[in-house]
Amino acid sequence: MQKIKVTIWNEFRHEKNQEACKKVYPEGLHVAIGKGIAADDLEIRYAALDDPEQGLPDDVLNTTDVLLWWGHCAHGEVRDDIVEKVHKRVLEGMGLIVLHSGHMSKIFRKVTGCSGTLKWREENERERLWNIAPTHPITQGIGEYFEIPHEEMYGEYFDIPKDGNVIFIAHFEGGNVFRAGVTFERGYGKIFYFQPGHETFPNYYQPEVLTVISNAVRWAKPVFFKELSCPNSPAIDKIGK
Ligand code: ZN
Repeated sequence: MQKIKVTIWNEFRHEKNQEACKKVYPEGLHVAIGKGIAADDLEIRYAALDDPEQGLPDDVLNTTDVLLWWGHCAHGEVRDDIVEKVHKRVLEGMGLIVLHSGHMSKIFRKVTGCSGTLKWREENERERLWNIAPTHPITQGIGEYFEIPHEEMYGEYFDIPKDGNVIFIAHFEGGNVFRAGVTFERGYGKIFYFQPGHETFPNYYQPEVLTVISNAVRWAKPVFFKELSCPNSPAIDKIGK
């Protein structure tokens, strides 16, 4: 069985300089996610912003089938040439799963062509995520809805492309709604944005959140890798004769 090569990229700064985050994710939230989704068919690697080549040297990126991305306070530090390489790899077939505050990352804005802006509020409120795509591979095992006891509110308007396939709609205790799970296809690559995962809440330990991420990894795995090109195309049939 060929394993899916998964790289979990984390900015990995809050865990070092914020007590509240360190307490919840002592090894980093990327490691919590990796341990939470570990399975025989996955080969999981970790990458962080402060690693050499910002965690994504060519030999790592070029052997990654699905890349998970968590960033927040240091989006601006991610090198543009690395964003270009990730973007190219997505167009060629790599899956990309953008988590929580990754909505403002350079790579998410690049692949969507949108600003990724939204409303937010940090008041530890309950979130209820409705599964509005019951037959989608990513929602399997989730049921009609699930709840997260404490999460940061992300609310509409969320500036993402209109061709996104919304599979979760979230409702927050304070009244806002949000497109919390959305898929896109760009080039040969599949992209999934998933909102839960604020750095000071233990939500990457919650079974439903991990089920969604696990399902998303399988859904986003490449069908094949191929460079996109723009060739001159000879006619297949005779024209005008
Ligand atoms: Zn957050």
